[in-house]
Amino acid sequence: MARPELKLYLAAPRGFCAGVDRAIKIVEMALEKWGAPVYVRHEIVHNRYVVDALRDKGAVFVEELDECPADRPVIFSAHGVPRSVPAEAERRHMIYVDATCPLVSKVHIEAERHTEAGLQIVMIGHAGHPETIGTMGQLPDGEVLLVETEADVGTLEVREAERLAYVTQTTLSIDDTAGVVAALRVRFPSIVGPHKEDICYATTNRQEAVKAMAAEVDAILVIGAPNSSNSRRLVEVGARAGCGYSQLVQRAADIDWRALEGISALGITAGASAPEVLVREVLDAVAERYDVTVEKVETAVERVEFKVPRVLREKVE
Ligand code: SF4
Repeated sequence: MARPELKLYLAAPRGFCAGVDRAIKIVEMALEKWGAPVYVRHEIVHNRYVVDALRDKGAVFVEELDECPADRPVIFSAHGVPRSVPAEAERRHMIYVDATCPLVSKVHIEAERHTEAGLQIVMIGHAGHPETIGTMGQLPDGEVLLVETEADVGTLEVREAERLAYVTQTTLSIDDTAGVVAALRVRFPSIVGPHKEDICYATTNRQEAVKAMAAEVDAILVIGAPNSSNSRRLVEVGARAGCGYSQLVQRAADIDWRALEGISALGITAGASAPEVLVREVLDAVAERYDVTVEKVETAVERVEFKVPRVLREKVE
């Protein structure tokens, strides 16, 4: 039987961002430099495929520092860590490498500067996400107030309404965040914010590409992990931009083919922590069932690269 025709819109950019690329390189280079096992506090990036591949090479993933022996190196994930974590590693005389994305570190520095200037910080982010925990943990407990939604702004209890600043998680929905910022500005007109919001270039670009394809397609598949904030935001962006079926899949085996029956145009993208090999796997699975014509939806060209820390660039002693 002839395969049905399908127009496939492939988002560009998609998948790995510079921060994820760097974090994975850090683990690989640490394994080369110090040998296995190298401990990693939290999933280095939120993707099971990536984590399993590094585990096979000798990385050991733990949730807390006290699960690591003091005599093995430990790496902190790309999402960032509270200050107490490197402080504890130093107290235990551990070798540690911080794989926090430089764009997350930038937010940490912003929060610190505002605090030094006597401002109280409001963080827009998701409760319990490691990045939010890390950013809030740059300052003493209770110093940073968390808001997740516009409704939260109404119930905020601040120290002084005239002495406030806000920072955001880097992987939020651009549109939702604009709503929360607007609500903050209405309630606290003198609140100080970043020049450009803290949502990073990779999150922004991936969301723009999904918006650009949403009107053309009957369904969107976002390749990414359920605990990946930026991947889940891509699913929401697709749905809000008018696509009737916007779905997260970790890999080809997760695709609900029944739900795709009768479609003539499909959009595919991948979150910032999803490797291209999984995109290829999904494309191959689609091509087995459909007569596919691929069109690239390119809304930006990314040339961002981050260096790994110096300790890993130095030769093995
Ligand atoms: Fe860094 Fe953005 Fe990638 Fe997060 S999504 S690791 S902030 S570049």
